[in-house]
Amino acid sequence: MEIIIKDIPEEGKEFFFDAASDGWFRDTLNAALPQMIQKEDEGKAAFYLLRTGANVDVRGDVACNYHPACIRCLKVFKNHLDCPIHLTLAPLYESERQIKLESKDEVALVKEDLEFSYYEGESFPLSDLIREQVILAVPIQPLCKKNCKGLCQQCGKDLNLGPCGCKAHHEHHRWDALKGFKPAK
Ligand SMILES: [Zn+2]
Ligand SMILES: [Zn+2]
Repeated sequence: MEIIIKDIPEEGKEFFFDAASDGWFRDTLNAALPQMIQKEDEGKAAFYLLRTGANVDVRGDVACNYHPACIRCLKVFKNHLDCPIHLTLAPLYESERQIKLESKDEVALVKEDLEFSYYEGESFPLSDLIREQVILAVPIQPLCKKNCKGLCQQCGKDLNLGPCGCKAHHEHHRWDALKGFKPAK
């Protein structure tokens, strides 16, 4: 999905996408969340693009359901991602100057700088932008629930379904190991 910048009217333009009907959008979600999008998972996006001088102001929201695997119990579960997007795209020649400034003093990187991206030529691929933003927004360590008990490291049983025979033994040793790491209050 390529956005031609000169085609964005003076007053800006709204875009709506639905993974059920926009194949490229579904492909983009699939690329951002590999193997995590199931057939019935809904995906929607809304954008408002506005030109401000040579820049393009991009405001939008990407929302979808997806199925990650819990890092503790390995169960695949349904999750919802809501990814608000707001960034400014500048022509590449502007950005190069910015990158030079940033590399001189990387510590000075503030949030505003991170929400600044660039486009090259007369258009920009909205699909790439969506993919990058979704990858940034998705939790790196998904949990099926906050207090997921995970699998017993000894017998592999899913401890959310109840204790296993080796649990007591296991827990005992786990707390022993933690004792030395307790921070002083
Ligand atoms: Zn889990
Ligand atoms: Zn066990």
